[in-house]
Amino acid sequence: MSLPADLHMHTPLCRHATGEPVEYARHALELGLTEIGFSDHSPMPRDDFDDWRMRNDQLDEYVAKVRLAQAEFPQLTIRLALEVDYLPGHEDWIRELATRHPWDYFIGSVHYVSDSWDIDNPAKLSEWKKRDAFEVWQAYFERLTLAAESRLFEIIGHADLPKKFGIRPQQDCTPLYEKFLDAAARAGCSMELNTAGLRKDCREIYPGRDLLRLAFQKGVPITFGSDAHAPAEVGMNLAEAVALARSEGYTETCRFRQRQREAAWL
Ligand SMILES: [Zn+2]
Ligand SMILES: [Zn+2]
Repeated sequence: MSLPADLHMHTPLCRHATGEPVEYARHALELGLTEIGFSDHSPMPRDDFDDWRMRNDQLDEYVAKVRLAQAEFPQLTIRLALEVDYLPGHEDWIRELATRHPWDYFIGSVHYVSDSWDIDNPAKLSEWKKRDAFEVWQAYFERLTLAAESRLFEIIGHADLPKKFGIRPQQDCTPLYEKFLDAAARAGCSMELNTAGLRKDCREIYPGRDLLRLAFQKGVPITFGSDAHAPAEVGMNLAEAVALARSEGYTETCRFRQRQREAAWL
């Protein structure tokens, strides 16, 4: 079985990943992957917004690092992308970012449910104790729905990220998932199966089977990503993610070139 494209990986510029893009690419080739995409954490309008992304003045350096990997390994398709944080009010900033380089795709991710709380940040785990889990999930999916509706992104990243630390609400989240997925289907936005969740406390791919089942019913296309923050994580558990997608009925995945979607057999 050939593996699908791994469209989610980082570089040391985000300050919490190790290894150069050439090393990620080399590992991808060793695994037999034919396509990967770099999607490092994009800069924010203010460089002091947080400490886990590249600065504005590093965007060109990021692109140069990816170009270097492309030149080194012409036998591997290497896409140029960004994982962009969606925050309401950042739309113009995101459009501006889009004009700065010939990106192949943008992954839209919600990490922040407010301007100050990135829910997946281990340093802010105590915030979870102050909140009702369902309220966090509601706030998160409200933003994820806006991200899908915005048409600023080709892919929505790690769709049920709030489960990262294993904290889950008692309530049924189906209505939240449906609203998000209806928006994604309308906007023609795809959703990634991100295997990083298997390496976190939740021990589960993002998104879980319940959300994925609804996505298939609603015709939302899927992509795959390891969310590698080190070369050895490239392609990690992708076969498992493919098995999950197939078991829910998916027979196709997609790729992106110059922000245009192409379907591929799974
Ligand atoms: Zn990261
Ligand atoms: Zn992310």
